[in-house]
Amino acid sequence: MQSYDYIVVGAGSAGAVVANRLSADPRNQVLLLEAGPASHPWSRIPIGFARLITNPTANWLYAAEPEPSTNGRRLPVPRGKLLGGSSAINGLAFVRGQAQDFDTWAQMGNKGWSYEDVLPFFKRMETYPEGDANFRGREGPLRVTNPSPQDSVFAALIQAAAQVGIPYNPDYNGARQDGIAMSQATIAAGRRMSTAACYLDPIRNRRNLHIVTGALTEAVLLDGARCTGVRYSVGAAVQEVHAEREVVISAGSINSPQLLELSGIGEPERLRNLGITVCHPLPGVGENLRDHYAPRTRWAIGKKGITYNDRGRGLGLVGQAARYALFREGMLSMVAAPLRAFVRSREGLEAPDLLLGWVPMLTEPGPKGPRIARESGMTCYAHPMRPESKGHIHITSSDPRRPPAINFNFLSSPVDASLTVQAIRIARSIMTAPALADWRMTELGPGPSRMRDDEILDWVRQAAETTYHPVGTCKMGVDAMAVVDPQLRVRGIAGLRVADASIMPTLTSGNTNAPSIMIGEKAAAMVLAEAAR
Ligand SMILES: Cc1cc2nc3c(=O)[nH]c(=O)nc-3n(C[C@H](O)[C@H](O)[C@H](O)COP(=O)(O)OP(=O)(O)OC[C@H]3O[C@@H](n4cnc5c(N)ncnc54)[C@H](O)[C@@H]3O)c2cc1C
Repeated sequence: MQSYDYIVVGAGSAGAVVANRLSADPRNQVLLLEAGPASHPWSRIPIGFARLITNPTANWLYAAEPEPSTNGRRLPVPRGKLLGGSSAINGLAFVRGQAQDFDTWAQMGNKGWSYEDVLPFFKRMETYPEGDANFRGREGPLRVTNPSPQDSVFAALIQAAAQVGIPYNPDYNGARQDGIAMSQATIAAGRRMSTAACYLDPIRNRRNLHIVTGALTEAVLLDGARCTGVRYSVGAAVQEVHAEREVVISAGSINSPQLLELSGIGEPERLRNLGITVCHPLPGVGENLRDHYAPRTRWAIGKKGITYNDRGRGLGLVGQAARYALFREGMLSMVAAPLRAFVRSREGLEAPDLLLGWVPMLTEPGPKGPRIARESGMTCYAHPMRPESKGHIHITSSDPRRPPAINFNFLSSPVDASLTVQAIRIARSIMTAPALADWRMTELGPGPSRMRDDEILDWVRQAAETTYHPVGTCKMGVDAMAVVDPQLRVRGIAGLRVADASIMPTLTSGNTNAPSIMIGEKAAAMVLAEAAR
């Protein structure tokens, strides 16, 4: 049987980082297994996210189970399936979260995860040329930039926000998150900065790092309470590989709990019912699922020429393509929501609890993914940042190719429901502020006929989608439902860690790529520190 020191399962936001850092020492033999292909042409062009969101080659294309909060709709759950994982198909917004998010993790018993503890990893991972150097990194692999050029459409929205008391913040990843800001982006020179581009491409010549794509890990191998390797398949060929030191699962919030359950690690009754031998009872596997349930308010704009509905279709699109080809600028180089605001639902809160994000166009479903609508308008999504509603993800079969069942239980917490309504009311107040009066806007959704809380929530159930931030299904903690300990070791099993978004005990205040990369950095440092002892 082939043997490596470390086996990393999944080359996504976290896994690519772990593989990079572990293989930096030439004495470590590292195997990185990725189920998807090496790349996809749409992945390097930022606007390609609109194509990749429905692309079966680069995306697992999961769908959630119908539930009351979605009016029985099956919400799409896209997940990257290629080197770079979801960082290679995502909306490119770069948001760390708040200091309080990580301090909360530490207060839950996760020693070593306070903001002070994780800040060095956030700095280590990035190169961001602006902001306060006490908070921002200058020499990391991941290039982060501000969108350029700053469009007048956003200047008007920033002014409108100021009119309702929301100030401009030049760096929400710095000392304070509060306020409205242009989105920082994992884009440089008009190209997507995935972890494949930033953490794997530069080290392809390392002889001690072996990357296998198209390799579906089907189970981790256990010898009693020790993980000894993995079984994976490439097409019909199945093989087992031995891990001398550790296996690190970085398969993401959907696939990491799936892999544990397939390996006999999980809630015993559930596994037995599927004919799986229970190797290690761990009831928290697949529980604690959280995501951002985000209604997109929609606005028609009477004034012509300011949104991409006017400037990005027909001849406008040809112009945008030329602009991108020549200067790597314009709509094709755009982050998914170029403007965002971190706001408080009420006065007196220590930190913002709501997120608003603006997309300078209306879209509609098309045969190859969302497309730019004919009607000119603006989309503004609005949602609570730290939802309390929790769902779960569990396998329904012992077949590793069968998708697990995803149940979000959105809005099951009344707090989430009332914060969602409040977020929509704040979006309305900005969109109707005097600075935007000459846009001559009409509210399309929720629409002027939905003013009461129950009417707004009824529309949310009909229309909301996630912002694709599932986390928490292999929760880090010290309680009975924790799957990994604060060192990210699977509780009760030696030689096995989980390092990806699934370990987050709670959702961070914003998007989840940056914290997932930070988790990869911190996991690698912990693995190396343990090996050095
Ligand atoms: C459409 C979309 C838009 C998003 N927009 C943003 C955004 O704008 N900003 C932001 O910060 N976040 C965004 N996110 C979320 C963010 O990208 C993710 O939270 C983050 O990438 C998760 O990282 P991860 O390492 O946990 O998992 P992933 O990056 O998903 O990596 C998991 C990897 O494991 C592989 N894998 C899974 N199972 C197996 C297996 N059995 N064997 C081998 N390999 C396996 C997968 O193919 C994948 O490559 C978005 C996500 C999506 C899908």
